[in-house]
Amino acid sequence: ASLTQEEIIRTAQQRDVKFVRLQFTDILGVVKNVAIPVSRLEEALNDDIMFDGSSIEGFARIEESDMNLRPDYDTFAIFPWRASAKGNVARLICDVYRPTGEPFEGDPRYILKRVLVEAREMGFQVNVGPECEFFLFRLGPDGAPTTETHDEGSYFDLGPVDRGEDARRDIVLALEEMGFHVEASHHEVAQGQHEIDFRYDDALLTADRVTTLKVVTRAVAAEHGLHATFMPKPIFGINGSGMHTHFSLFRDGENAFYDPSGPYQLSRIALHFIAGLLEHAPGFTALTNPLVNSYKRLVPGYEAPVYVSWSAQNRSALVRVPASRRQGTRVELRSPDPSCNIYLALAVMIRAGLDGVRRELEPPESLNKNIYELTPQERREHGIAELPGSLQDATRAMEADPLMRETLGEHVYARFLEAKRIEWDIYRSQVHRWEVEQYLGVF
Ligand code: GLU
Ligand code: MG
Ligand code: MG
Repeated sequence: ASLTQEEIIRTAQQRDVKFVRLQFTDILGVVKNVAIPVSRLEEALNDDIMFDGSSIEGFARIEESDMNLRPDYDTFAIFPWRASAKGNVARLICDVYRPTGEPFEGDPRYILKRVLVEAREMGFQVNVGPECEFFLFRLGPDGAPTTETHDEGSYFDLGPVDRGEDARRDIVLALEEMGFHVEASHHEVAQGQHEIDFRYDDALLTADRVTTLKVVTRAVAAEHGLHATFMPKPIFGINGSGMHTHFSLFRDGENAFYDPSGPYQLSRIALHFIAGLLEHAPGFTALTNPLVNSYKRLVPGYEAPVYVSWSAQNRSALVRVPASRRQGTRVELRSPDPSCNIYLALAVMIRAGLDGVRRELEPPESLNKNIYELTPQERREHGIAELPGSLQDATRAMEADPLMRETLGEHVYARFLEAKRIEWDIYRSQVHRWEVEQYLGVF
C-alpha cells in the first residue's frame, strides 16, 4: 500500500472528516456501507471492525453471520459532495473476511483478486478500461424517478443551459477530485444518455472505480434534481446503456497483445485471449448482463451485440479490436452492461480470456462485415453463435460452462444462480402491457 495508516488518519483530521463509510459489494453488485464515526477510524484500519453479514443479500447463513471488514488503504477517498459545515465523509473499500481470518468466499472483490493472482502467475498484469453509459432522468413531482429525459420538455428549464450537460460536468469534476483520469465524457446516441470513460488501469483498481463512478454519478445527479440510472434498457425503441470493456495483458511493462508481424499486428496471446472470450461468452453473459432487462438491450438495431463474433473493424461484432496499436493494443468486449457486478463480471471475462491463452485456442476468422446483414444461413456457415436471448437462457449457458463455477467458487455460483432463477420466475409470470394491447381485443 502506498498510503500508511498515519497518513490516512492525518488526512482525515486535516480535511475534517466526521464519518467514514466502509464499503463492499454484495453478490448482486449493490454497494453496501458500514458507516463509522471518525473516532473509530484507527480501529477500522487495524481490521477490527465486524458487521452482521446475515443482513446482506446472498452473503451468509445465520450461524456464520459475523464478518470482518479489512480496508484497502489505497482506496481512501473523501467524497467531494456533502462538504458542509458539518464536516466531510470519507470512504474505504474493504475486503470481507471471516472472523477466523480467512477471506470470505462470498466477497466478489476476493473472487476478482483470485483471478488476478492467477494472471500474475502466468506473467500478466491485466489492464481494463470501461465505457460507462447511463441515463439522466427527471424526478417526478413526488420525487420518484421518471423515464422523462432532461433534454425533452426543456420548457421546464430556467435557462438555455441543458441540465444534463451541467450535471455531467459536475460528475466528471467530482470524479477527478477523487483521483480519476477522465479521458472523455459525452452525450450518447439516445436522448438523456451519457457516457464517461476514464483511463485504463489494473483490473482491481478499475473495478473499484466503476463502483465509485456509479455512487458519484447518482449522488451528483441528485444534486441537480436528476436521477442517474445504469439500468440497461430503460426505454423501448431507443439505444440502451452498455459498458464496453477494453482488455490488454501486459508483461514486463510491455503490451503482450502487440506483435507488428502478427495478423492485424496482434500477438498469438491476443488471438488466444479473443478466442477464450468468444468460447465462454454465452457462459459468462449471466454475469455481464445480469438482469431480465439486460436482454432487452441485446437485440438487433441498437448498437448492442447479439452474435458471437470478432472483428478488427466492424462495430456489430461482440469483440472488436480498436485501431490503436503498440502500448494501446487492446480488445473491446461490447456485451457487458453497467448493471453488472463489476468484480464478478471482470473475474469471469478475464478468466475466459486467460483460459484461451492457456489452452492456446484459435479464434474463428475475423468477420469484417455487418453481421446483421447476413442471412441466418450465412451466419451458420460462418459458425456464428448467438448470445443468450434471455436471463433464463443465460443462466442455462452459465450452468453449461464449468469455467464459471470454477471461477466464482461454489458459494457465489450457487447463490447467484438461485437469485437469478427467482428473478426470472417472478418476471415470467407477469402480464406485460404489450400482451394486453396485443391480445385483449383479438382473443
Ligand atoms: N449504447 C450502445 C450499447 O447499448 C453502445 C453505443 C456505442 O457504440 O458506444 O451498447
Ligand atoms: Mg458509447
Ligand atoms: Mg466502445
